[in-house]
Amino acid sequence: MGKVKKFEPISAICKDCGRDFIITVEEQKRFKSLGFELPKRCCECRKKRKEEKRIAEAKIKEKQETLENEKRQKKWEKEEKAIERLTKKLPIPQISIKDMALENPSESLVIIGNGFDLMHGVESSYWDFQKTIGKNTSFRFYMETYLDTSDLWSNLEESLGKLNYSIFLNSDIIDMWLDNFGVYNPDAQAADFFAAVETAIAPTFEIPRELKQRFKKWIKTLVVQSDGRPFSMLHGDYKVLSFNYTEFIETLYGAKSNNVCYIHGCRKNRNNGRPSELILGHRPGMEEEQWDKVRLKPFKFKDPYKRYIMESALETAAREAAWYEEETTKKCSDIIKKHRSFFDELTTIKYIFVIGHSLSEVDYPYFEEICKKTNAKWYIGYHSLDDLKRLLSFADKMNLREITIFRS
Ligand SMILES: [Zn+2]
Repeated sequence: MGKVKKFEPISAICKDCGRDFIITVEEQKRFKSLGFELPKRCCECRKKRKEEKRIAEAKIKEKQETLENEKRQKKWEKEEKAIERLTKKLPIPQISIKDMALENPSESLVIIGNGFDLMHGVESSYWDFQKTIGKNTSFRFYMETYLDTSDLWSNLEESLGKLNYSIFLNSDIIDMWLDNFGVYNPDAQAADFFAAVETAIAPTFEIPRELKQRFKKWIKTLVVQSDGRPFSMLHGDYKVLSFNYTEFIETLYGAKSNNVCYIHGCRKNRNNGRPSELILGHRPGMEEEQWDKVRLKPFKFKDPYKRYIMESALETAAREAAWYEEETTKKCSDIIKKHRSFFDELTTIKYIFVIGHSLSEVDYPYFEEICKKTNAKWYIGYHSLDDLKRLLSFADKMNLREITIFRS
């Protein structure tokens, strides 16, 4: 009869401190079940090692963070130096915000863009908007799949002009849907045909529809989160052209409601009892560039009936998809017409302050209109190096006579 090997407490010597320690039966079983060797250190030394490991890991993490901060800091310093070099060379007067004065409010126009809201702690960047869209929503899928851009959220308006029609408007995809909806069957109905086409071009109406709804909902949630009011000169009866959808120029700086033109709509305003539309879109003409990429392959069907159906389907799809352009293009000239009286009243303006506006080309038509009406002295703010570069090319394109720049 063989002896059954029984677990018994083992006495061992700690590798670190040299003291005797007992490995209990329970510990032996536990280590064995986990497939580990028996411990070589006493309980205290094991704890000590664990703690040392934790501290070492924390140190590594801290070091990584420091490195990243340093990198960011260096990048920032580099940008600051570049701004300094550039501004030194410029034959343009520069002023600090606190020295700015608005001596004749009634002759002043203040133009604000999203940078104004950001300066007051409003989380109003497109990146903030992006955070409000679920990770797995069909909307996100449509945006990230069909808009042909690598920087979707850094310039959302421009990105909207990059719908890649060729992904869904091609004969293979259309053929698939026609087949799916049984349109090739002799007893198919017209409704099947239209259902197939609509399904194929779903991104063209899903993107604008969802974007509008979600954007409006998000804009409603924006709040000021900073106590700073850097533009202390803003008081009195100045006119405002606001590119923002929020009313913070009124609530923070007392601009009078009837002096403010919300060129792209405002969340608080109503139009015939309905909330005013919030306008968001890309510059005209981008769609043409996208359509040029659509190559409808010469069709493979020999069967004249199938070929006929395919041709009508492509034609219908292309016609209906054009709605996307209608919905996503910012039609500045129509918008200017709508606000005609505001622009017409600008003839008395002698000073123009531009605060937190990106001066993107999509908005040039508004500025051209202002230049037509006025012969003013411009004060234009910038924040980053890119802003400053855009500012300079803007001033050049608009042929501004007299400008002063300030950093915000
Ligand atoms: Zn020990």
